[in-house]
Amino acid sequence: MELTKTAFIENFKKRLGQKYALDVSDATDSELYDTLCSLVKSSYSAIWRHTWKDYLKENEKQAYYFSIEFLPGKLLKSNLLNMGWYQLVVDAFQELGLDFEKVAAVEPDMALGNGGLGRLAADFMDSLASEGYPVNGNGIRYKYGLFKQRFVNGYQVELPDEWLKTAAGNAWEIRRASKAVTVTMGGHVNLVQENDYLKPVYEDAILIQAVPYDVGMVGYHNQHVNTLRLWSAEIPDEAESQYPTIEDRRQIEDITAVLYPDDSNESGRRLRLKQEYFFVSAGIQSIVRHYKKYHEALDQISQRVAIHINDTHPAMCVAELMRILLDEEHLSWEKAWEQTVKVMSYTNHTIMAEALETWDIPLMNEIQPRILQIIAEIDHRFVTALAGKTDGQLIERTRIISGGKVHMAHLAIIGSHSTNGVAQLHTDLLESDVLHDFYTLYPERFNNKTNGIATRRWLQLANPRLAEVIDQTIGRNWRQDANQLQQLLDHQADSQLLDQLVQVKLANKQRLAKVIKQQTGVTVNPQAIFDVQIKRLHAYKRQLLNLLRIIKLYLDLKENPDLAIVPRVFIFGAKAAPSYHYAKSIIKCINETAALINHDQTIQDKLKVIFLENYGVSLAEQIIPAADVSEQISTASKEASGTSNMKLMLNGALTVATLDGANIEIKEQVGADNIFIFGLTKQEVYQYYQDHSYHSLDYYQQNPLIHRVLNTLVDGTIPNISAEGHEIFDSLTYLNDDYFVLRDFEAYLRIQDQVDETYRDQHKWQQMSLINIANACHFSSDGTVKKYASEIWNVRSVAQKGGVNVGYPL
Ligand SMILES: *Cc1c(COP(=O)(O)O)cnc(C)c1O
Repeated sequence: MELTKTAFIENFKKRLGQKYALDVSDATDSELYDTLCSLVKSSYSAIWRHTWKDYLKENEKQAYYFSIEFLPGKLLKSNLLNMGWYQLVVDAFQELGLDFEKVAAVEPDMALGNGGLGRLAADFMDSLASEGYPVNGNGIRYKYGLFKQRFVNGYQVELPDEWLKTAAGNAWEIRRASKAVTVTMGGHVNLVQENDYLKPVYEDAILIQAVPYDVGMVGYHNQHVNTLRLWSAEIPDEAESQYPTIEDRRQIEDITAVLYPDDSNESGRRLRLKQEYFFVSAGIQSIVRHYKKYHEALDQISQRVAIHINDTHPAMCVAELMRILLDEEHLSWEKAWEQTVKVMSYTNHTIMAEALETWDIPLMNEIQPRILQIIAEIDHRFVTALAGKTDGQLIERTRIISGGKVHMAHLAIIGSHSTNGVAQLHTDLLESDVLHDFYTLYPERFNNKTNGIATRRWLQLANPRLAEVIDQTIGRNWRQDANQLQQLLDHQADSQLLDQLVQVKLANKQRLAKVIKQQTGVTVNPQAIFDVQIKRLHAYKRQLLNLLRIIKLYLDLKENPDLAIVPRVFIFGAKAAPSYHYAKSIIKCINETAALINHDQTIQDKLKVIFLENYGVSLAEQIIPAADVSEQISTASKEASGTSNMKLMLNGALTVATLDGANIEIKEQVGADNIFIFGLTKQEVYQYYQDHSYHSLDYYQQNPLIHRVLNTLVDGTIPNISAEGHEIFDSLTYLNDDYFVLRDFEAYLRIQDQVDETYRDQHKWQQMSLINIANACHFSSDGTVKKYASEIWNVRSVAQKGGVNVGYPL
């Protein structure tokens, strides 16, 4: 049925009556929410069916994006937008006397990820569907998402995220019991000769039922719906008797119970390895089963299937596909290996040594002995093939198994045809340093794919006011094709437009001020600069550098209350991994500094410090449109790409940045005059490492300003941080300040003075802001996925964008 407001209202009322036996006026928000989701889902499900049937009809090559994290946030508005229903539903709700925003707020965030990695996967899913690519996601349906963060006395406290237990549950998933597969773990394995191959015989292995829950990934105005398949661990019916006690059963169900809340620190826990094998095995089995249903020759599987390994967590994909091709399909090793390497591709996300995943051999053996055998064989053949041809030490450094451990990145690189970094600097570092040995072996496998963000979520949905101003200026085509945003560059001199940008920003800041008031009780002035640092809390991201500057400003203002500074509201959002003691200490120090400053009558509106609890996608959507300044201040070489830098730029914030990750590319796009760059370069950081010539204690002892600021951590100026203050003080002085906070401090102060000065010239500021918005199109994930599709996966777009019939039917 064609979608009109009247038809929608009629259908909505009917569905509410069918589902709940209620009238609109009697229904709760969650009943209304559920009813709306149900209508939305029925509409796109009809199209979803066509999408995958068309793949079959056309014999399309499909890609599968394996990621242990997906962080989509809420899906209702995103689905409505992509279906072309958004405005109509808002209007219909108004006509029905319902509060659409309140109903939409019922949806729990789908927080099956920690931060950038999971959010990237979610933006890619949106872009892949919107660009019409036959690419599906494969992950884990965690019963508990990323912990909920509360502050108690300034400390982070973690609460479980029982998202599936909320009234709204997960309205989007479809449980597909008929597509379940069995995952085998543990026990022992023996190879016995059978005919002309070796057959693995498992003893005492555990059988786990992997049940898929499919979530539709709705494309923007193109009638194209892909699948995000999330696996849940259950007891197989036929094995009920094997698990007589609750404890036995829990062991199975625990596999998909919790998302590991570690960002880049490896948890090293056995359960984590089980999770990895579980979703890898389930995903690969289901792909092969599907392939076999429609194709014969498994030795040709790479022509129809591409599998992407997002970071090392799914690296066992290599061994699992080999296992199936060898043990179940009886391909020769050579054929199986050739296909596996062609099918697989891998993205590296970090250069942080502690995040390069390795597993102890005995543990791998315990979790899946056959997989260890296969990895050992891959390793053996790798070493044998190179022996005598290349430097023996290089072989030792690159082999998969060494020092009693399995090196997952090595497995992913050796077992795939493509390894990419996520920003140019990061890829350069992989080639020249972190993965240099592999680069000498396989230079043709390395490539760069700079991360991106979905402009639909981060501009159209998060910042409707700005979107409307853009519509009025350049028309609506940018909504289909983000590159059109560049047309804004022709309007730099349009002072009416620049004034509108001021109004939009102010309105967004007022909206955020309300959220701040509600959550913290603090009143902030929307005329102040909103200075935003939102990202996981990690030493390398240097929230501490920001904090030291805040303390410096506070000291200045105490000394000279008439000091002329542009008022600022510092806004933080960040979760620390529960086991990351140092990061939690930084949270405590920021919170106590905030309490001190916000309650100091002499400071008044000049300075406010706000740390919003429970940073996540939904909070990001409220903060980002209100930001004036974007803090991207990681130690050069440490942030692989960053994506909050892109989201903030897209919303008109100006970036204060080190030359790290994608900041470098942002600078290239907007020009050095339209970004505030400071601090050590990667080369300088590496030089310090090489010479061992950084002595942070000297900075404390010889620089009076640094001396004074650091002392506040330990002399009682900031109350209630005696333990944390000392811990941080020591890390910056006696422990030699791993992340060069003191080294970059003065450069950071200087650049911030420049920010102040620029802000005073609002015309100039808004011009710079416009240039940032226009150039953010270079970081649209639509563009990023196109490159993955054509340069790595070799899949083609199958849907028409735009077209006449763009909406989804009722
Ligand atoms: C974009 C995003 C991130 C990534 O932020 P970075 O600053 O790039 O580390 C993390 N968490 C959420 C909720 C995000 O939306």
